[in-house]
Amino acid sequence: MELTSEQKQEIHKKLNATWSSTNCPKCGKAWVHVDDFLSEIREYQGENISEDQKVAPVIILSCLVCGHIEYISPKILKITGF
Ligand SMILES: [Zn+2]
Repeated sequence: MELTSEQKQEIHKKLNATWSSTNCPKCGKAWVHVDDFLSEIREYQGENISEDQKVAPVIILSCLVCGHIEYISPKILKITGF
């Protein structure tokens, strides 16, 4: 699912309001790049893949300097549409 430009602006606004620093925790540079699409993390059930697996939506943040990646929850941030 692609994030709208409004959702991406909302994410930046909420991170700036809640994070103590938006510098990368690994390289220390200003880093926050919000991916263009929403991703998901699935519950691990061994080698079995079923429709019963729990799925958590995540927004991927990337550091454009060192490649460090973090996930944040659109539900906890209360991003519009989630
Ligand atoms: Zn970095």
